[in-house]
Amino acid sequence: MLTRRVRKDRYAALPKREQKRRSVLPFVFSSFVYQFQSEVIGMAATIYYDKDADLSALKDKTIAILGYGSQGHAQAQNLRDSGLNVVIGQRPGGPNYDLAKSHGFEPMSAADATKAADVINVLLPDEVQADVYTNSIRDNLSDGNVLMCSHGFNLHFEQIVPPKGVDTLLVAPKGPGHLVRSEYEKGGGVPCLIALGNGAGEATRKIGLAYAKGIGGTRAGVIETTIAEETETDLFGEQVVLCGGVSELVKAGFDTLVDAGYQPEMAYFECMHELKLIVDLFYEGGLSYMRYSISNTAEYGDYSSGPRIVTDETRAEMKRILNEIQTGKFARDWILENKAGAASFKARRRIDQQLPIEKVGRELRRLMSWIDEKEV
Ligand code: NAP
Ligand code: MG
Repeated sequence: MLTRRVRKDRYAALPKREQKRRSVLPFVFSSFVYQFQSEVIGMAATIYYDKDADLSALKDKTIAILGYGSQGHAQAQNLRDSGLNVVIGQRPGGPNYDLAKSHGFEPMSAADATKAADVINVLLPDEVQADVYTNSIRDNLSDGNVLMCSHGFNLHFEQIVPPKGVDTLLVAPKGPGHLVRSEYEKGGGVPCLIALGNGAGEATRKIGLAYAKGIGGTRAGVIETTIAEETETDLFGEQVVLCGGVSELVKAGFDTLVDAGYQPEMAYFECMHELKLIVDLFYEGGLSYMRYSISNTAEYGDYSSGPRIVTDETRAEMKRILNEIQTGKFARDWILENKAGAASFKARRRIDQQLPIEKVGRELRRLMSWIDEKEV
């Protein structure tokens, strides 16, 4: 068994003062690291809070939210609840159109929403943004408008190049739309990134900070970045660690056990199911807290075997992937893939949906009544 309840029980048994001392230690340590970074490495980020942002920068303006999907539905409702003027550009015929209506909006075409607004946020899937921009947005922009996004892909790789007189601005919540909405409703917010496009100045930063405040971001903290940094780190993280890296690691671990004759059910639990437990610990207290919570045996194996899985060769490949992101090779491939009707993307999706780990997982999740099962 991976977790060691005992350790937590032992912690609970400590005198209150000692518990407090131990609970404060990570903060002392992290503030030391922060100071160390800022003073020695010179890397401290600029972070904005509520007091740095003034909603009045958007008071007399109209904001168009194009797309009422994950980010769109959350950002639009938060902005409206913050007292700002919001119009929705959402094509009819799908559930998101009905959702916008049921939330009291009068959705219109992207072209009409752009015309009606001063600040236009494109919250469509990244791969459709350039076409919608060319067909519906570009000719309806006017001087002084601000064109926004929540991910810099199309701006950074110049798939969207706005006319002179239109500034670009990124405000990106570091969480999915449902969290952006639910945290706001609780009186909180999800941390955001803010980045100004080329040539944008203080007036646009004020609009960005007001926008971030309107969606609840400044309640948590808004970190200043650049469009390039947001785009490249976001793509790198999802390819190398979060999506690509983890999926392949899980598949390879599962296959190794099954090929060696172990039951697929056991392989599923060990290599996929228990990952959530570990990730939750990372999320709450980083590597140190994860290692504090697992058994010493698991921790020893972590140190001795982990570096044999992610080797120098893996790290070199990470650098090559980063290089392909930086040079635009990945962007070009993904853009061309979409021009080809996403044929290989759809095939890869279908092939992986039929993997044995997906079949056994479906069966096992049915046994766990507390899991809110999802089927695609
Ligand atoms: P999403 O949930 O997939 O929403 C897509 C929206 O775009 C829907 O309203 C959809 O309408 C519309 N749409 C899709 N295809 C269209 C087309 N061809 N023409 C016109 N409208 C179309 O998107 P999202 O995840 O919110 O992502 C929006 C942006 O936020 C992206 O830049 C993404 O990188 C960024 N972002 C997302 C997250 C996240 O967690 N999801 C986090 C940070 C940043 P229909 O219902 O009619 O298809
Ligand atoms: Mg991301």
